[in-house]
Amino acid sequence: MEQSLIIIKPSGVQRNLIGKIIDRFQQKGLIICGLKMMNLSEELLREHYAHLVEKPFFPLILQSMMATPVVVMCLKGVDAVNVIRTMVGSTNGRNAAPGTIRGDFSMSSQENIVHASDSKENGIIETNRFFKPEELFDYSPVTLNYIYAPDELN
Ligand code: ADP
Repeated sequence: MEQSLIIIKPSGVQRNLIGKIIDRFQQKGLIICGLKMMNLSEELLREHYAHLVEKPFFPLILQSMMATPVVVMCLKGVDAVNVIRTMVGSTNGRNAAPGTIRGDFSMSSQENIVHASDSKENGIIETNRFFKPEELFDYSPVTLNYIYAPDELN
């Protein structure tokens, strides 16, 4: 199974969407293997958004992501990275498809409610960036055989 790091950003926390977002992922059949609230430091954000540090809007990203605590989650599932990116929708909430988290809850590029890992490799790197090993849990939900056919689980 793949894993993905989700951040419910301050825009999601302030707008009381934490429960709704977690519910969507649980209803889909993704497994929560880590979940906590934390404040993000500038150091952590510079590492996490290294590809954007030179952009003119990077100071606004820092300000936005440090405005309140965030909720971070590690989710697991077969092809989880692509499944979750599809559920999250495109970066700019104004362009994101209805039915996606950003499409349903966001009107902004920056205040776009959630982060989700964009590759299998980053799912692992980002999970380890935000969680200590003892904060991650490997367990098998009893519903697993009703979420996947036997030949989909390997
Ligand atoms: P995604 O979050 O969809 O993977 P990126 O990795 O490109 O997108 O960008 C990371 C985050 O930086 C976005 O989710 C958004 O909060 C912010 N961002 C990206 N592009 C812009 C922009 N043009 N203006 C303001 N904020 C942006």
